[in-house]
Amino acid sequence: MIVKDCHTHSGGFNYKEDKIYAFSSITGYQYKMKALREIGIHIESAVTFSQPSPYPFLTKKPWYNIVDYSKKNDEIGKKCLPLENMLFACFVDPRLAKAPEEISRCVKKYDAQAIKIHLSAATVNAEILEYNGIVKTAEEYDLPLIVHMNPEDSKGIKQIAEKNMDVKFIIAHIAYLQTDFFNLVKKFDNVFFDTSAFVHENFKYSMVASIVTNKDFNSEFAECLNPKLGEKDKINLKEIKIDYNKMIELVVEMAGSNNFLFGSDEGWSPLEEQIRIINESNISSSDKENIFYKNFNKIFNK
Ligand SMILES: [Zn+2]
Repeated sequence: MIVKDCHTHSGGFNYKEDKIYAFSSITGYQYKMKALREIGIHIESAVTFSQPSPYPFLTKKPWYNIVDYSKKNDEIGKKCLPLENMLFACFVDPRLAKAPEEISRCVKKYDAQAIKIHLSAATVNAEILEYNGIVKTAEEYDLPLIVHMNPEDSKGIKQIAEKNMDVKFIIAHIAYLQTDFFNLVKKFDNVFFDTSAFVHENFKYSMVASIVTNKDFNSEFAECLNPKLGEKDKINLKEIKIDYNKMIELVVEMAGSNNFLFGSDEGWSPLEEQIRIINESNISSSDKENIFYKNFNKIFNK
């Protein structure tokens, strides 16, 4: 079975409050590749980039500073250069004025194959991608943009995707299942979902919060929770389980599989478990091929 992974972190630690959290490295990922090969899962390529900086809500700082990722880009880019199966993506803080310059540098020096942006950690909306020249740079070098969105901000990315049909946008984490993003993925050939981190606790929290607070949320996904919300007066998040197979089946039913590709969020979410869940879901084998590698091939040609 062939798998290509469009979303892996490397470059060491991230931090949760004062504790070290979510370690990731290229060497660690390569070990996992090797172990999976022994059970018949061939990860042929993986896109890798730095850890995001700690989220503002996890830091005690009153003001959250713009992060310059260039040192991490150097570290990861250098390691990826001799490795054919690891594709380096340049991580930039979208608020950084020299972001386009940093992307060009990473293309020239390390043959960067994508750009990773975390709008949520930077607490900005998608408009900044155009305003700061990042979309233009992505177009110039033909680099897909892997974006962790603010869940409330589908309008910004819609406008940009519509205006820049040559630039491919990969919306990370199935956009936390927000309805508006499904419409984008269905409508635009250049907007994709990656599957990454759907087994992470935060994914569940976001899903439950959306169901409780947001009337635009895909209500079908509420059916994937067990016990269902509303069956109990108090919501006990720890007790709630998600039927992940059903969730993947619903995503494919609602958004199709042509613009849906596998990402693991290595460092934050278990790689093998996510592959297994998708593989065991009741979707067609051509859907699985699309998710596991065919859509990756459309975007990266590697
Ligand atoms: Zn990630």
